[in-house]
Amino acid sequence: MSERHQLVIGRSVLGRPIEALGFDAPGYAQPRPPALLFGAIHGDEAVTQLMLERLADELVERPPGRETWIVPCVNPDGVLAGTRDNANGVDLNRNFASTTWGTERRPGYHPGQAAEDQPETKAIVELIERIGCARLIALHATYRMVNWDGVGETLAREMAERCGYPPEASMGYPTPGSFGCKYGVERGLEVITLEVPYLDVDEQAWVECRAALRWAVDLPT
Ligand SMILES: [Zn+2]
Repeated sequence: MSERHQLVIGRSVLGRPIEALGFDAPGYAQPRPPALLFGAIHGDEAVTQLMLERLADELVERPPGRETWIVPCVNPDGVLAGTRDNANGVDLNRNFASTTWGTERRPGYHPGQAAEDQPETKAIVELIERIGCARLIALHATYRMVNWDGVGETLAREMAERCGYPPEASMGYPTPGSFGCKYGVERGLEVITLEVPYLDVDEQAWVECRAALRWAVDLPT
């Protein structure tokens, strides 16, 4: 059994808690930099929250091979309202402090008044800094692909092999101020964007993604 730590890492615009679940690796595991997985940064992608809650339940019985942090829901106001954006109408995945913040965005994507001015973004940024995560995995829906930024290519290909979704170097459109821009492109960390299908109509999706997610927290160096 792995010990599960539960933390409130911040509050949403409407005051809802944003929770992180932390898991220690077994004492005999080789030291590796911690991993962070997060879901539902877009509120209309609640399937990603369900998937990470399921993974977290499983990690209690079968601990990961490295210190692992899971934030199942970054945008609780958006999930409860069924909106992509947070309660301020900001796309949180355009709100990160990359050098591209606020530039060349597609219509309808609001990056905030300033980079990282949204409480949900700040909560994730502070958690990454506090625990020194080097492997960062963002779950989105619903394209079925494994995208990478920074030094994430090897891991992306390994995960892609396990879930059966294609590995992709680019999302196919500019994403200024995105998580991947800041932590992958600019900071050179291992960043993965796993685009998952809808779990509620496709249990097979869990089986596919589970294999990729366990690989990311269990085995690779
Ligand atoms: Zn998304």
